[in-house]
Amino acid sequence: MKRVITLLALAVLLVSNYAAAAEPVALAGLSIPLIASRDNNLPRDYVPELVRVPGTYFYLEQETLDAYLDMLADAKAAGHARLRLQSAYRSYETQHTLHERKVAAYKPIYGDRAREMAARVVARPGQSEHQLGNTIDIANGSLTQSFGKTAAGIWLAENSYLYGFILRYPEGTTSVTGVIYEPWHFRYVGKDIAKIIYDNDWTLEEFVRNANAQKEKSYPQA
Ligand SMILES: [Zn+2]
Repeated sequence: MKRVITLLALAVLLVSNYAAAAEPVALAGLSIPLIASRDNNLPRDYVPELVRVPGTYFYLEQETLDAYLDMLADAKAAGHARLRLQSAYRSYETQHTLHERKVAAYKPIYGDRAREMAARVVARPGQSEHQLGNTIDIANGSLTQSFGKTAAGIWLAENSYLYGFILRYPEGTTSVTGVIYEPWHFRYVGKDIAKIIYDNDWTLEEFVRNANAQKEKSYPQA
């Protein structure tokens, strides 16, 4: 719904006098988060500095861990007591194993397209944000798209930006992100950027595109 409203607002902006448009968000001063995706491969040896998530076998970067613990405490206080971490940092090698497993499972269904279809669901090694150490899968049961319709899923989608997380693969954005709707997958980008992405209903790809465009305008090529 929010996306529809944004598109409507954009259409209105385009047809109305440009001078009347709201100030564009200032993005030029922000550092651009690293993307791992079908278009941006992380090297095999990319390993961030990690700390263990207390009480689990998972690892995250310290800043992400602190934000996650804050968010989890508030989510639990808001009544979502069953939320738990389901995945955090994953190495290139782990991702390779997971991806190959998915390809094998898809082979009988998709044949020659198995690898391509598997990549939408389980990223290829080097293309998973979980290798960055700043990404979590969080849900109150198995990782299904229906989680997004639960009270806990809605709470996370609406509040995660307050802690610096973004819902990384929102519904209806597969053509932009290359990944299916994942209501459980949250990427830490810091509170400033998370709020901008939330307010504008952007994906991370759209944020990066807009930020780069503004930087080019601020520092035109000679
Ligand atoms: Zn994930």
